[in-house]
This record gives sequence, structure tokens and C-alpha cells, in this order.
Amino acid sequence: MGLRVERIPTWKDNYTYLLVCDETGDAAVVDAPEVEPVARRVEKTGARVSQILSTHHHPDHSMANPELAKRYSAPVLGHASDRERLPGFTRGLEEGDTVAVGNQVAHVLHIPAHTRGHIAYVFDDALAVFSGDTMFAAGCGRLFEGTPAMMFAAFAKLGALPDATRVFCGHEYTESNLVFAAHVEPENLAVRRKLDRVRKMREHAAADWHDATETEMTVPSTLAEERATNPFLRAPDVAELGRRRARKDDFRG
Ligand code: ZN
Ligand code: FE
Repeated sequence: MGLRVERIPTWKDNYTYLLVCDETGDAAVVDAPEVEPVARRVEKTGARVSQILSTHHHPDHSMANPELAKRYSAPVLGHASDRERLPGFTRGLEEGDTVAVGNQVAHVLHIPAHTRGHIAYVFDDALAVFSGDTMFAAGCGRLFEGTPAMMFAAFAKLGALPDATRVFCGHEYTESNLVFAAHVEPENLAVRRKLDRVRKMREHAAADWHDATETEMTVPSTLAEERATNPFLRAPDVAELGRRRARKDDFRG
């Protein structure tokens, strides 16, 4: 019983998620840039897709929304403010709204910074958060439409979730994020250990991300791991988060 999360490698290094309630078979797709890999997984699992959930409007997370919505006769959910720019938009969500996938319920966090309409879906019972391009494993998204203060606030919301919460983010960026984290905090042993572990996982990564196997996927992380390794969650204040984000923008491992 619970929420099954299928990780589907899409686009260049994106994660699309297929969420299935094992009690009812109801399913939702989170952040899909491509139809085919998703449709194949849906067929393989026999899931009944009833919703398309978007974390934000960027094409590498939403391009396939209209076609998937048509194929499964499913609504597309995203932040209310993205009505005009989220592909396939049908239902607007605000902070505190809930979304049910079968018997599993998520509450919505509005976490603007990467984009103004960025949201996260938090499944409290299943201990899972879909954090899009806001919190990555050991990293954070670029500040395209927000300030360091907004990202700090977003990380404070995500950082309030329980330790065991699994963090399902939008991209497989973990290795390069950890290289940067080790640069920011050279003394942090949790970062060193995780970088070693992630390097081993990524050593034999498929040349084409679409062929990635589960052994090379470093996502999900957990909130406990993020507290120990994420230089943006570990930033003590807005100014330091801003400095780290600016350094990361020009960082070449
Ligand atoms: Zn994005
Ligand atoms: Fe992205």
C-alpha cells in the first residue's frame, strides 16, 4: 500500500515521474517533456493516468502536456499564475491546495524563485516531494525569475519537511552539484562520501540518458541527505545563499 514512484529518464537529463496509487491503480505524470517514454511506461505498468502535474512551465518539464492530456483525457495542473504559459493548463493550484492520486494526497507548496509559478507537490504519508528545478540533490535551480531571498524562503519551506522525505527533483545533476558542494565546504565529510557513492553510480552511465537504468539514477535523495550535503539548504542566510548561487553560475568543476 502506498504510492509507487516510477522514474522515467527523459530529454537530456530530466526526470519524469509516474506516480501510482497501489490501492486504486490511479496514476499521475509529473513533468513530461516527451510522450513516448511515458506512454511506454504507462502501458508496462497498467497505470490509469488521470492527471498531469507540472512543477513549472519550462519546456523540458511540460512540452508533452497537451499530447498526454489528450491521450489520457487528463487535466493539466500547475500554479494558477502560469495559466497563460503552462502548456495544456487546465487547473490552477495555490499554496495549500491538495491533489489526490488515488488514496494518496499531496499538498502544494508555492516556491517561486527559479520561476514565479514554481510549485512542489508534497505527499505527506508517502514521504515524497516533487521539487522540480527548485531543490536538486545537492543543488538548487537558477534564479531566472526570483531573488536569493525568494530561493531562501523556498528552501526554508522544503527544509521544514521530515528527514525521511524522499526528494524527487527535475534533473540528474547530482554529481556536478556535489563537486560544487565539495568546493564550497571542503571539510564536509557527508559531501565527500556522497560524491564517492554518486561517482560510482554514474561511472557506467548509459551514453543516451533514455537508456539509463535504475542503478545509475542518483535521485531520489532524502531531506536528511540534503540537510547534510546541499550547500543551498546549508546556507545560513540569504546573502550567503546568493553568493553561493552566483558562484555556481560560473563554476566549472
Ligand atoms: Zn526549469
Ligand atoms: Fe529543467
